Amino acid sequence: LPGAIFGNRANSAGVDLADPLVREPLLAELAGLEARKWEAAPTFPGAQAGEIAPITSPQDLSHEVGTRRDATAAEVADAIARAEAIQPGWNALGGAKRALLLEAAADAFEAHTAKFISLCQREAGKTLVDGVLEVREAVDFLRFYAGEARRLFAAPIPLPGPTGEENRLSLAGRGVFATISPWNFPLAIFIGPAAAALAAGNTVVAKPAEQTPLIAALAVKLCHEAGIPPEVLQLLPGAGEVGQLITSDPRIAGVAFTGSTATAQAINRSLAAREGPIATLVAETGGQNAMIVDSSALPEQVTRDVVASAFQSAGQRCSALRVLYLQDDVADDMLRMIKGAFEALGIGDPARLATDVGPVIDEDARQALERHVARRKKEGMPVWRRALPKGAGAGCFVAPTIIEIGSIADLKRESFGPVLHVARFRADELERVIADINATGYGLTLGLHSRIAETRRTVERLARVGNLYVNRNQIGAVVESQPFGGEGMSGTGPKAGGPHYVLRFATERVVCIDT
Ligand code: GLU
Repeated sequence: LPGAIFGNRANSAGVDLADPLVREPLLAELAGLEARKWEAAPTFPGAQAGEIAPITSPQDLSHEVGTRRDATAAEVADAIARAEAIQPGWNALGGAKRALLLEAAADAFEAHTAKFISLCQREAGKTLVDGVLEVREAVDFLRFYAGEARRLFAAPIPLPGPTGEENRLSLAGRGVFATISPWNFPLAIFIGPAAAALAAGNTVVAKPAEQTPLIAALAVKLCHEAGIPPEVLQLLPGAGEVGQLITSDPRIAGVAFTGSTATAQAINRSLAAREGPIATLVAETGGQNAMIVDSSALPEQVTRDVVASAFQSAGQRCSALRVLYLQDDVADDMLRMIKGAFEALGIGDPARLATDVGPVIDEDARQALERHVARRKKEGMPVWRRALPKGAGAGCFVAPTIIEIGSIADLKRESFGPVLHVARFRADELERVIADINATGYGLTLGLHSRIAETRRTVERLARVGNLYVNRNQIGAVVESQPFGGEGMSGTGPKAGGPHYVLRFATERVVCIDT
């Protein structure tokens, strides 16, 4: 029964953009926030100020949203010392009290929805819909992990005592956890892993993505105002060097990282190379996500789901569809419909309601995607691109693109943006297609459109992916309902928003008392 395991928690209702009585005041509030300047700095700024970097909007590089003040090496060391000193007290507070504080933070986030949406648009280039979804997911993570703190940390589990002894198992925080979070979910995946670590009784030093520290700074400020002590959750803005300082510190007991596979592997090496506790690494990384569409699929549904999976959030979700496999006898018709919907995508300023695809995060991302498309063209692959609107040159826009390829094996790495690859397969090649998808070494999401039960069973049996979506789009995992995360090169697990996630942040202790 829903709620039977986790209580009667419901996910956030979000913002109903279809209701003008909700939408219009929100738009007015967003307009009022357009010129506001924000700041991100270490929670406890030291005497020696670190470098200050401007944060600009991906859709208009001349628009400054605020500034980031990077943490210095001394500030990183001090932050970890503070976090270490207060961790036993935070752990001793118990799950129920930690849950109340996380829930107070969730309420504060909801109350400041417009500010977060404004920052999602201006700092991260997110559309209004994506901004709304981002705040909802952040709130859901806070409330779900609060419930987990209550469920898992309420009381020790009594164990059998065959010779009359008392045995019990309890959970405790591991110590100081570092979170290193991505720019593509600058609020939800900033706060999600931090909330899980806090729920388990760890203290947290949080390094947000260098591109999106302002949203993170607002999140941390609201957590503090909600009652989470500043030493328990500290912000350490900065680029990769700050991350390296954190992960090479022997006092760090675990790292929760979301980002590229290469960076996860570098963090793993850094943790392994230092003294101190054998650190836990929770990593959620990239994917080379496919969708398989056979001739029994409903074309309108496929069109809608392909376009959402590949182009929503400008394709900047690690769950996003990269390689669409169409069964050859329906491929031409399906592709014609998909291209029709692709031609109708609204491209441009994320603040406009009509925009479906905004910019990519920065100039490096734009150039990498352009290089990828140029290379495929040079190799002779058919390429369709949308024209960019006037004024797009001011920002980091990549024209939504469809490329026909032979197989997923033609692609060496993930293209993190609005680029969809299409391949064809014969009905008798299903198992070969799944083998090719598995052979990429990634295992994050897979979409399947088929009304044939046997095909669904085959895919479920053979595909090595964390999240398989059948007859729907393959993005937007919902907290608690679709715990999210991959395997292989896509991540370590456990799944975010699932019943095993918080456990990975805790250590287990057994007490045995003889009579
Ligand atoms: N959870 C997100 C989704 O299901 C993706 C997370 C990510 O991109 O890191 O779309």
